[in-house]
Amino acid sequence: MAGVVILTGAGVSAESGLGTFRDVGGLWTRYDLTEVATPEGFARNPALVHDFYNARRANALDAAPNAAHLALARLLDARPDVTLVTQNIDDLHERGGARAVIHMHGQITRARCAACDHRWDAPRVMDRSDACPACARPATRPDIVWFGEMPYHMDRIADALAACDLFVAIGTSGEVYPAAGFVEEAAAFGAETLEINLEPSAPGRFDRVIQGPATEAVPAWVAEVLAT
Ligand code: NAD
Repeated sequence: MAGVVILTGAGVSAESGLGTFRDVGGLWTRYDLTEVATPEGFARNPALVHDFYNARRANALDAAPNAAHLALARLLDARPDVTLVTQNIDDLHERGGARAVIHMHGQITRARCAACDHRWDAPRVMDRSDACPACARPATRPDIVWFGEMPYHMDRIADALAACDLFVAIGTSGEVYPAAGFVEEAAAFGAETLEINLEPSAPGRFDRVIQGPATEAVPAWVAEVLAT
């Protein structure tokens, strides 16, 4: 096996205590996504958007990486041909030891100036009126890709998908595009496809499915790969 692309979603961080998108009663269900995760929502009510992401940042910083994050970091160390792409905005892959993570939806630990595009490390609590360290304008936003915005690093991801022999989706529902289309993209270039998920996302979409909680299924799969 040479050339592996792994795509992770909220399910990989669920057992660290970070709610997935659709958790009943979770943070995401208590807010209207069009109000907190779109540029239009931010323009209408920046304070509400910052409140939402301040809460998510606090949750993420207080969470610890789990066995799935640690196993993926071990795999990256052992296999330089593995590319790890995440839709998650938390930093649990990095804190689990992953050497290089492509954050296609941005990072909760980073801030961005909506006026000049400068980026910097986010403080624990942010507000729109925080001055940008580069241009001093009060236009601070989280460095998160919102609905309607272009995900980051799409060229790098497309190259990796075209070159990989195996595509693995872990803990993602496959409902948010463009990430949801990566499996078809990789398969079109001849890659084998594997899904690791608590509940398989769609029958027949992947060549192989491993069903189970990420903290058990991912370390077991990584051990299998490292043994070959
Ligand atoms: P999603 O909420 O749509 O789907 C979560 C998936 O994880 C489901 O398929 C579910 O079956 C699976 N899952 C739940 N618990 C699991 C476990 N213990 N082990 C394995 N799988 C488990 O999330 P998504 O597909 O990542 O897409 C939604 C969007 O939500 C993304 O854009 C992402 O940026 C954002 N999001 C991020 C975080 C985070 O950063 N931790 C959390 C919530 C949502």
